[in-house]
Amino acid sequence: MKFHITPSGKKLVTLIPGDGIGPECVNATKMIIEATGAAIEWEERHAGASIFKKGLPSGVPPETIESLSKTRVALKGPLETPIGFGEKSANVTLRKLFETYANIRPVREMPGVVTPYSGRGIDLVVVRENVEDLYAGVEYMDTPGVATALKLISQKGCEKIVRLAFEFARSAGRKKVHCATKSNIMKFTEGMLKRAFESISKEYPEVESQHIIVDNCAHQLVKTPEQFDVLVMTNMNGDILSDLTSALVGGLGFAPSANLGSDVAIFEAVHGSAPKYAGKNVINPTAVLLSGVMLLRHLGEFEAAGKIENAVMVTLESGVRTRDIDKNNPVSTTAFTDAIIKNLGKKSDKWKVREYKPIQMPQVSLSPDYVKAKSRKVIGADIFVESPLGPDALGKDMEQISNGTALALKIISNRGTKVYPSMGTITDCIDQYRCRFFARSMDKELTDVDIAELSKRIGSKHRWVTIEKLQDFDGAPSFTKSQGED
Ligand code: NAP
Repeated sequence: MKFHITPSGKKLVTLIPGDGIGPECVNATKMIIEATGAAIEWEERHAGASIFKKGLPSGVPPETIESLSKTRVALKGPLETPIGFGEKSANVTLRKLFETYANIRPVREMPGVVTPYSGRGIDLVVVRENVEDLYAGVEYMDTPGVATALKLISQKGCEKIVRLAFEFARSAGRKKVHCATKSNIMKFTEGMLKRAFESISKEYPEVESQHIIVDNCAHQLVKTPEQFDVLVMTNMNGDILSDLTSALVGGLGFAPSANLGSDVAIFEAVHGSAPKYAGKNVINPTAVLLSGVMLLRHLGEFEAAGKIENAVMVTLESGVRTRDIDKNNPVSTTAFTDAIIKNLGKKSDKWKVREYKPIQMPQVSLSPDYVKAKSRKVIGADIFVESPLGPDALGKDMEQISNGTALALKIISNRGTKVYPSMGTITDCIDQYRCRFFARSMDKELTDVDIAELSKRIGSKHRWVTIEKLQDFDGAPSFTKSQGED
């Protein structure tokens, strides 16, 4: 990765103070990094609440995009996401604009931070896919009472995140990578990550690899978190479980993260803007500071990074702690910052700074059609309709409507369960049905005209909402069956 070097020979970093407690955390981090003498210069830019208030719905102005395009590296305070005004999260926008597809979230037991897990040596890293999954933000109201969201997972995305998890493990001298998925239920989406993991793990024989179902992973993380080293997950699973892992070592005040892409890296705490504490000089800046430590390593400033890590541990060990972990005798954010600066150069007896090598970012083809099928065929269509009818009445109508077309009704499902032909069970139906049609003759590929003719006929009597083509790729069906479908 190429960095922007200033005329004074320093690496330029975009600094986004953020909202709520963001400026306090970022300012503390900036002061401590500057006190190490690291060769860094800051370019301050803004995003989030102040920008939404100016009427820019993305929350990320052009000058911030321009700065990050130039520096390729940012330290960012948390940004507030307005709820319910149609604005997108400025955090997610930044991650997506710069394709920072990996979110690295390390947690490690810290001296002086007492938790129910103290003494067990928790030291693990969640590697979360950062741009796909339900966070693609593609949602619809299919009927006035039914919402759907698209869980979008690509093979290219899975391969990139899995490779990065193994490369990260290599760079940080870690021995084991778990892949946690819900592939037993979501065979195509979550299953794609599992298959990529099983295939790519063979390229890293020195690192142990193991798949785990994500719900069991949550259970194991609470029971015996010390068994884990690196965990790779899809976006939403990683989002939820990484908040859980931060709680194991003292809470969000101690959880840093890096958003890594092939060109740009954005470092930020896992926590948000905690507005109730804004401006009160009480919050814990450690999460942003340790994100700054990750930033320093990314820039090759390994010595400054190790110095800060040691100073944080010495400070915590000496009993200087903020309100989130010390209710009896807490110090202010600024006093905690000053204590860390005073402790720069000291080493903790209990904490050993890990040896890091620069991370090798995976090289992946930029081609959009990354996976090509040797053969493909359209064999049917799922037509989703909004209907107040019961399944029997709708099923009989669909059979009649499709008579004389190239497609025949096979089943109707409701929320993924077969309801027509009836299996004699009780399903509480909603007004969104999936009507599954297959070609009457399997020898012939269906055309768009065949599907359009059927949808036209359905549309004359019912409201259809969406149409999904049913395809075979390389002889394998590209769609899952409904519960109860044979
Ligand atoms: P939050 O800001 O992370 O705060 C949740 C709680 O965590 C706080 O009330 C506080 O717990 C504790 N906490 C967080 N940071 C702390 C720190 N540095 N020191 C001490 N305690 C800390 O989550 P939220 O209240 O759900 O979200 C607030 C806003 O932040 C929302 O607008 C959300 O969209 C945004 N957000 C932004 C990001 C980001 O920028 N990456 C991430 C998450 C959320 P106690 O109440 O127990 O003291």
